[in-house]
This record gives sequence, structure tokens and C-alpha cells, in this order.
Amino acid sequence: MKLDLSGKTVLVTGGTRGIGRAIVEACAGAGAKVAFTYRSSSDTADALKAELEGRGTEALAIQSDAADFDASQAAVDAVIEAWGSIDVLVNNAGVTRDNLLIRMGEDDWDAVIGVNLKSVFNSAKAAYRPMMKQRAGSIINISSVVGVMGNPGQANYAASKAGIIGFTKSLAKELGARHVRANVVAPGYVETDMTDALGDAAKDAMLNNIPLKRPASPEDIAGAVLFLASDASSYITGHVLHVDGGLAM
Ligand code: NAP
Repeated sequence: MKLDLSGKTVLVTGGTRGIGRAIVEACAGAGAKVAFTYRSSSDTADALKAELEGRGTEALAIQSDAADFDASQAAVDAVIEAWGSIDVLVNNAGVTRDNLLIRMGEDDWDAVIGVNLKSVFNSAKAAYRPMMKQRAGSIINISSVVGVMGNPGQANYAASKAGIIGFTKSLAKELGARHVRANVVAPGYVETDMTDALGDAAKDAMLNNIPLKRPASPEDIAGAVLFLASDASSYITGHVLHVDGGLAM
């Protein structure tokens, strides 16, 4: 079955780089109209929008801090104003502020919970009523293997990513009767700017524990998101799809 999003509208938070960008490109390749948000990289956002339009995709680049409630509402509103519906919401924006808890500041905790977890509340709440009225929609929240397994030095990140799982299952139960699905994708180690900063020793240690013995590419994650966005997954909701080469078995 070909994964087809023709005629659907998609909003991806944090779509300029890494996993978010691969999701934007995969959805565009499947025929969707694609909106994406970014926080700071406006040149990259403009270039990506132009690139998508050059390939015949209708695209919107929206500057919106995912941690900001009103800005998240405005991003969803912009999609509906432009295209009349929001069919797929991908909550991807995320950051790390790693440190052992003994050295972790309150600002490190607040920043990570704000961008990674409150952001999911912000845009899911904005999309809730429109999707409910449409009686259709797919919400996909990007968690992490760290939210399932924990990781020293990432208590804030792990808490944010574990929170996403409970949030999504609750949403799936609230919205199922309206044919709106909510699922989680939990990536393992993916080669992006976020993991670039890790030292070789940390990367080697992770690779050692991955049965498939390689890191994921952003496209590996985008494929799973595309599946959950499409009608090929129409009977799947409240699921946590691990895309981690077997790391979290
Ligand atoms: P990345 O390469 O650092 O890219 C992050 C993206 O999020 C950028 O487009 C960035 O936009 C955007 N962003 C950051 N803060 C934002 C905010 N406050 N508002 C709006 N956009 C914001 O990260 P990545 O590795 O692709 O990670 C994407 C998601 O996957 C995150 O949720 C991450 O936790 C999760 N994840 C990653 C891995 C991994 O190994 N890489 C593993 C598991 C889960 P700007 O450029 O404008 O800042």
C-alpha cells in the first residue's frame, strides 16, 4: 500500500532541521500541503518553503515558539485559515539541556519541559476542537527512547518525553469516538544536530546496545510518522511506536 496524504494538511512543529525536516519532506512527497514551525532559523525556513513550493507542494513557514501557548494557537489558526482544515499534527520540536540532577538548574528543567512537553499540550489543545469537528485527524507526538528507559544526565528530558506518552494515551481515549487518533513515535539514537554534540565514547556506547548496529537517519523516523499520519494506520491509536533499531526491547 502506498502511503498517500493527497489533499491532507499537515503541521509539523520544529520543521527546519533534523527529524522535523525529514517529516516535512516525507509528507510533502506523499502529496500533503505542509506547514512547519521554527523558532529562530528563519533563513533556513524560507529556503525550505521555497524548495517545497518548487516541487509543487503548498507550504507555510510559521515562526512560532512551541513553548508559547498563544503562538502555538496562532500556528494552528494559520493552517486552518490558509487551507480550511488541520488533518495531521506532528509535535516534533524539542531541545536538550543535559546535566546530572545535582548540577541541573531550575531553568534547565523549565526550558526542557516547556519546549518538549508543554508544547504538546499547546498545539494539541489548539487542534482539538477543529479535529473534533472534522471528525478526523491524526496527532503524532515525538517522544524518545529516553522517556521509556531513562538516562543519566537527562532527568528533565526523560520526564518530558515520558510525559508525552501519558498525555498521548489520554488524548487517544478522549478523541477516539470522534475518529481522531493520537500516537507516539519514540526514536532511539538519530543522527541530527541534537546528537552531534555527543562525544565519540557516548555514541559508541549507544551503538553497542542497538541490535541493528547503526544510528537512525531522520528519514527512518519520518517513515514511521508518515505511516501514522496516513490511512494505512487508521485502526491504530494510543500506540507508542519505537523506531530505535531494537534499543528499547
Ligand atoms: P534538532 O536537529 O535539534 O532540530 C530541532 C528542531 O526543533 C529545529 O527545527 C528547531 O528550530 C526546532 N525547535 C527547537 N526549539 C523550538 C521551539 N521552542 N519552538 C519551535 N521550534 C523549535 O533536533 P532533532 O534531533 O531533529 O529532534 C527532533 C525531535 O526528536 C525532538 O523532539 C527530539 O527530542 C526528538 N528525538 C531526537 C532524537 C535524536 O537522537 N536526535 C532521539 C529521540 C527523540 P530552530 O532551528 O528554529 O531552533
